[in-house]
Amino acid sequence: MVTLVTGGAGFIGSHLVDLYLEDTDEDVVVLDDLSTGQRRNLPESDRVEFVDGDVTDSELVEEQVRRADSVYHLAAAVGVEKIVDNPLDSLQTNLIGTESVLEAAAEHDVPTFIASSSEVYGKSTAVPFAESDDRVLGPTTSPRWSYASAKAVDEAYGLAYHDAEDLPVVVGRYFNIVGPRQSGQYGMVIPTFVEQALAGEPLTVYGDGTQTRSFTHVEEAVRATYELLQEPEAHGEVFNVGAPQPTSINALAERVIELTGSDSEIEHIPYEVAYDEDFEEPQQREPDVSQLEETLGWHPKTELDRILE
Ligand code: NAD
Repeated sequence: MVTLVTGGAGFIGSHLVDLYLEDTDEDVVVLDDLSTGQRRNLPESDRVEFVDGDVTDSELVEEQVRRADSVYHLAAAVGVEKIVDNPLDSLQTNLIGTESVLEAAAEHDVPTFIASSSEVYGKSTAVPFAESDDRVLGPTTSPRWSYASAKAVDEAYGLAYHDAEDLPVVVGRYFNIVGPRQSGQYGMVIPTFVEQALAGEPLTVYGDGTQTRSFTHVEEAVRATYELLQEPEAHGEVFNVGAPQPTSINALAERVIELTGSDSEIEHIPYEVAYDEDFEEPQQREPDVSQLEETLGWHPKTELDRILE
């Protein structure tokens, strides 16, 4: 048996590869263009094959999907700065890549997981977010509109292939997944804070820092990802994948300073300076995970302190 992980050299994808090596007998093919991923994220193993390539290359994707028994599609243009600076890249990678994967999966009848994002909730204030809430589809006032709208279309593509082509597809909406191997290079808050604290630099908090986020340990997220694709009842559905443990960004910064024993201060940067335009981040982002609990009996247990440590 072979599983294909697109974006498998990235943060979440490489942890999914680890899970496959540890918990299954399957071989893993990783398709990744190393744009944000790294070869060193992947374990040295003759059960892992690395294919350096672009997920928008439909011929290459078809070649890889054809020999797979399951597919996890995680490759995407990610990271706030990258997305804001290159909206076209994020649309192309995140739309055409997903279409290539789904088309090949439908041709060869290969069950497929599609990685989506809590960004599809836009600036919803209906916390906690539920799968049945309205989602953003199309340009919004957010500078990250290209990412959010592409992810929303990816979901629609996945569900359409499920309904029209009978393809087993499940969509996971990740909420702030964190843990080892996540890079601070693209504006991810925990690695950025940790790097700043260790360097004795100010921790840069956007806005007044009262906005809250819910952080989920990557090992729990990949466990849910794996189990969702194995569970036929989950197919054709969208699931929030996240831990409902909201913390303010101010509290997060303080805790990082405490745990690292750093002398760093906290510096607040107004949104208009951070983003160079009039935009505010959503004040709260917290998942309702009752659907995941009911379907998989899954509940994240790793507390924020453990994640930070
Ligand atoms: P990541 O950047 O570490 O992983 C993405 C991987 O995709 C990288 O290895 C990158 O090199 C690869 N990639 C990018 N463009 C590609 C292309 N055109 N062809 C082939 N490979 C390509 O980021 P991540 O955090 O591991 O994200 C994985 C998935 O989860 C993405 O789909 C992302 O949108 C989604 N997601 C992540 C989070 C989070 O909190 N980390 C939250 C919501 C959604």
